[in-house]
Amino acid sequence: MTFFCVNCFGELSGEGGRCPRCGATQNLDGRDYVAKLRNALAHPIAETRRRAIYLLGEKRMEEAVGQLIEIVDQENDPFVVEEAVAALGKIRGAMAMEALLRAARHKSFLVRARAIHSLVEAGGDWARAAKRIARSDSSALVRDAVQTKSMKDRQA
Ligand SMILES: [Zn+2]
Repeated sequence: MTFFCVNCFGELSGEGGRCPRCGATQNLDGRDYVAKLRNALAHPIAETRRRAIYLLGEKRMEEAVGQLIEIVDQENDPFVVEEAVAALGKIRGAMAMEALLRAARHKSFLVRARAIHSLVEAGGDWARAAKRIARSDSSALVRDAVQTKSMKDRQA
């Protein structure tokens, strides 16, 4: 597992201690940490935004769904949008899934493939809708995303 600084979101060698980059001690309580993560969603460096999005998804932070949807609908960097789509796929809930349906028609095929994959994993009507959308997609990656195995290899 990779650990990230609660202040600058740089990578840490282990849990606890001080960040070698910014010197921050890593002892925020859970609420402060989530607040930091949510602030980092507006960070000027895309990689930092991605890390914050990833961590919010891993923690299944439902209170971040609104912000993640805003990123999906408004962010220009397709890699950041792809991360937000992956996070929404982990958190789920109706609002998140509706946003994934929109993302399944995003201009970036990376985003579309990730959205289709998350919808298929959710199963039921979401999976059926995703398969219908994917079938007519111009990108083979998106069409193949309906096979959940194909995306697992890419997540490493
Ligand atoms: Zn730091």
